[in-house]
Amino acid sequence: MSRYLIIGSGLIGRLTAWRLLEDGHHVSILSRDDKQGTDSAGFVAASMVAAATEAISAEPMVKTVGLRSYALWPQWLRQLPEPVFYRDHGTLVVAHAGDESEMARYQRRASHMLEDSDFRLLEGDALSEREPELADNFRQAMWFEQESCLDNRQLYRQLGELLQAHCDWQQTGDIAELNQAEIDRLCQQYLRCRADQFDEVIDCRGNGGKANLSDLRSVRGEVIRVQAPEVNFKHAVRLLHPRYPFYLAPRPGNEYVLGATVIESDDRSAVTVRSGLELMSALYSLHKGFAEARIIEMTAHCRPGLPDNMPTIRRTDWGYIVNGFYRHGYLFGPAVVEDLTQLLAGKPEQVHFGVLYEL
Ligand SMILES: Cc1cc2nc3c(=O)[nH]c(=O)nc-3n(C[C@H](O)[C@H](O)[C@H](O)COP(=O)(O)OP(=O)(O)OC[C@H]3O[C@@H](n4cnc5c(N)ncnc54)[C@H](O)[C@@H]3O)c2cc1C
Repeated sequence: MSRYLIIGSGLIGRLTAWRLLEDGHHVSILSRDDKQGTDSAGFVAASMVAAATEAISAEPMVKTVGLRSYALWPQWLRQLPEPVFYRDHGTLVVAHAGDESEMARYQRRASHMLEDSDFRLLEGDALSEREPELADNFRQAMWFEQESCLDNRQLYRQLGELLQAHCDWQQTGDIAELNQAEIDRLCQQYLRCRADQFDEVIDCRGNGGKANLSDLRSVRGEVIRVQAPEVNFKHAVRLLHPRYPFYLAPRPGNEYVLGATVIESDDRSAVTVRSGLELMSALYSLHKGFAEARIIEMTAHCRPGLPDNMPTIRRTDWGYIVNGFYRHGYLFGPAVVEDLTQLLAGKPEQVHFGVLYEL
């Protein structure tokens, strides 16, 4: 059994702590966040696990890493005490009649970036069978079967309870630059122990880790949650649009998360009128039943991104930094955390995506 100190209790901190506990280790957590995780990007996220549709506008490695997480999510979720809402029907990509050129461009890019088996074109009856309420408004859709989404709030709640029961978890102030002296101070102040009592320190502070990662930037994203009793979509949906990307991720009880803007900024203030209007007009254009939907929440947060928008595990003289998940914490999280636990177990040969890491 080893002893680990994790700093940050957002998505990656929670997943890392959980997997290390599952492997039989002792875990302590220090974070400025509350136990619900409301300060974390992962709490706001749409939590789609969309390997292929994300890879279309990125690089092939996105799909490779994403498919590893896609395989791990159902296995991991089964290990939790209660079920977490997990939708595994895939993603449907549509465009309005006036935006057919966008659809054609997207199809060309998909054919260039992906395998033929990654998607299918659905028309007429095939679309009606798959997502009847979408077929009223759209003639065709591209279906990306190997994509899923989950209820991040259910996941956070369960991991929060589990970690609270089994970890020494302290809420701190804002932890600035991490170095051995600061880790020593934190251990003494919050955990009443010496830093050298931990085998490794793992920094999972997302946007808050910039002082230790000079190339980390924040990318603002705005999302809206609605409850729409008249809409029954089973799939995640992406609507192609010439100016702004739009997606919709289902939640239990006819709730949907719609998003998300992509703005190079560390501004976490409330959603702007313009973004709200764009997101909600796109929503209404998908299905008229959204007219009577209730707006439950409008939130902005920032994604922590490195220059290549890929995640990293970096070795430092005081521990590991695990960061840079950008818009892909759910897509990359399990794959990278699995690699991290292999590294910590002294099994570098079992690591899948070593090319991403600086060890
Ligand atoms: C609008 C939006 C939509 C998204 N949708 C998706 C999606 O559909 N699919 C997907 O895969 N990803 C999505 N993401 C991305 C995903 O949420 C992030 O990649 C992921 O949350 C990053 O995890 P993290 O643990 O590194 O950071 P976070 O989840 O932000 O957690 C960081 C934690 O560290 C704590 N912390 C920060 N600074 C300090 C400090 N100085 N001292 C102490 N504690 C600190 C914070 O309080 C927080 O608990 C989305 C993000 C946004 C903003």
